[in-house]
Amino acid sequence: MKYIVVGAGMSGLAIANILQSHGEEVVVFEKDSRPGGMVKCDVVNGSLFHRTGGHVFNTKRQDVMNWFWNYFDRENEFTKTIRNSAVVFNDKLVVPYPIENHAYYFDVDTQKAFIADLLRITKSTSAPHNFEEFLKGRFGETLYKLYFHPYNYKVWRRDLTKVPLSWLEGKLPMPSVEEMIFNNMNHIEEHQFVHSSFYYAKRGGSQFLADRLAENLTIKYNTTIDKIDKINGILLVNGEKCNRVIFCGNIKSLPKMYALGAFEKQIEDLEAHGTTSVFCEIDNNPYSWVYLPNRIHESHRIICTGNFSETNNADGKMTATVEFTDYISKEDIIDNLNKISFHPKYLAHNFEKYTYPIQDNNTRNMISNLKDILARDGIYLLGRFAEWEYCNMDVAIGSAIDLYKNEFYK
Ligand SMILES: Cc1cc2nc3c(=O)[nH]c(=O)nc-3n(C[C@H](O)[C@H](O)[C@H](O)COP(=O)(O)OP(=O)(O)OC[C@H]3O[C@@H](n4cnc5c(N)ncnc54)[C@H](O)[C@@H]3O)c2cc1C
Repeated sequence: MKYIVVGAGMSGLAIANILQSHGEEVVVFEKDSRPGGMVKCDVVNGSLFHRTGGHVFNTKRQDVMNWFWNYFDRENEFTKTIRNSAVVFNDKLVVPYPIENHAYYFDVDTQKAFIADLLRITKSTSAPHNFEEFLKGRFGETLYKLYFHPYNYKVWRRDLTKVPLSWLEGKLPMPSVEEMIFNNMNHIEEHQFVHSSFYYAKRGGSQFLADRLAENLTIKYNTTIDKIDKINGILLVNGEKCNRVIFCGNIKSLPKMYALGAFEKQIEDLEAHGTTSVFCEIDNNPYSWVYLPNRIHESHRIICTGNFSETNNADGKMTATVEFTDYISKEDIIDNLNKISFHPKYLAHNFEKYTYPIQDNNTRNMISNLKDILARDGIYLLGRFAEWEYCNMDVAIGSAIDLYKNEFYK
């Protein structure tokens, strides 16, 4: 069996390694000159710039954890860090994350309104039908107006009633009313929650992950795949023969490579957001992530990557990434940085057009049908933009493990 993997992001690297470790022949094609896709990092003025996001690792799946530590030395190459996040409402009100467990930071009227909300929630029997109803039903109107709506609106730029519930799975804390009251009464710090810690490479950030996973693979860089054919039962990828193709690129580019009939229009209609990541020097602070719900900031969060590993900062500096949804000009970036209280000083920025796939109620069904049809031709979809899933690296690795087990294991 010869497999061709399109894309050397985390999904492509994971499936290529899994296949190769089971004795299969694998060639990876990557249009860029290096591996990593969205987890790529650059060094700017001696500090590490995550070109998108911050990219820390953790997982709920034991098989993903075991797979990961086959490639890395947990003790010597990684740190385990307790996540320390905060929501900055203004200079005077900084509330530890998640705010529903720290309602005692708010003024008395807000606390009373939150308590009244919790009482209402315990009496309500209606099930949510969309993201807005979920947030109001779980955390109450008061926190929804203060934080959940303004923050999520900045990220998703849409009416939250249009965001389907399927999007939520595994992505948000789901505390019960009892837990919220208990956590508030006992001033429980975030690090006491499950999944409030993460692993991070001591050197090189997420680029280190990609480079290591790429080490023993055959990867043809600077090669864009633009044609997949099936002629007389033989699959050809840019003219190269193989038995199976695993496509880990963006599904929007697939119809130009391979005729997809009625799916083409549905793929064209898929929506996404991009991200402008702005790399800055910033004041020293104790945080991992800082969330900015306030409308005066166009950015929605600061990822304090300089706190993830001391090697991420040039001597005597502290660095972070300020994140904006979609494109923003350099002039507007500078204007926005001036409004942030940690005094971020611009170093560099990167805009990626596709970072957040947006699903509607039909997306998963459509992708699942398409996968079934393509699999009959020996073509498989895997990854954040191939499957149009809002997934983290560990979920991408988990999907690669599942794909191997379900489709290729003999
Ligand atoms: C802002 C942000 C923050 C995040 N933070 C975290 C985090 O902290 N922890 C975490 O676990 N996850 C995080 N994620 C999610 C993580 O980035 C993704 O799960 C993961 O990178 C997806 O990898 P992928 O391989 O599916 O896609 P990609 O990274 O997009 O890789 C696709 C690859 O395919 C290549 N390619 C595309 N088309 C072609 C073609 N035609 N020919 C050849 N090559 C092609 C591309 O160049 C790219 O290298 C974050 C995501 C974002 C947007």
